[in-house]
Order: sequence, then C-alpha cells, then structure tokens
Amino acid sequence: MLVSAAFAALLILVVIAYYLVPRKARCPECGSHREEGPLCPSCGWIFEDDEDDDGDGDEPEVIDAWEDR
Ligand SMILES: [Zn+2]
Repeated sequence: MLVSAAFAALLILVVIAYYLVPRKARCPECGSHREEGPLCPSCGWIFEDDEDDDGDGDEPEVIDAWEDR
C-alpha cells in the first residue's frame, strides 16, 4: 500500500520533471545541442522537422449558441 503510493508519487514527480525540463533537440550524430537552422554546426547533421500539423483546422469552430436569443 505504502510502497505503491510512494511509487505513484515518484512516477508523478518524474512526469512533472520531464515536462518542466526544457528539451532542446540534440544531434543524434554528435550529441551537441541544436542551433538555429536545420544543420548541426558540429558535424553537419540535417535535422528533420516534422511539420505535419498545418496550424489551422485542428481546433473545432466554437459555435456560439447564445448568440440568437
Ligand atoms: Zn552533430
């Protein structure tokens, strides 16, 4: 009981820390932090950006039901 509660608390702490720590992209080739731009300054690795989301269209339009009173 106590052990599982402590484990749950630890898990929550890990998740919180995971989201609080700012994650910078690292080069998979040489491990250096990514600078501006798609190229690694150290080894010339090309970072692949996943730009699948096109910004618009993800959020559903909010229909104001209280408009026509
Ligand atoms: Zn690199």
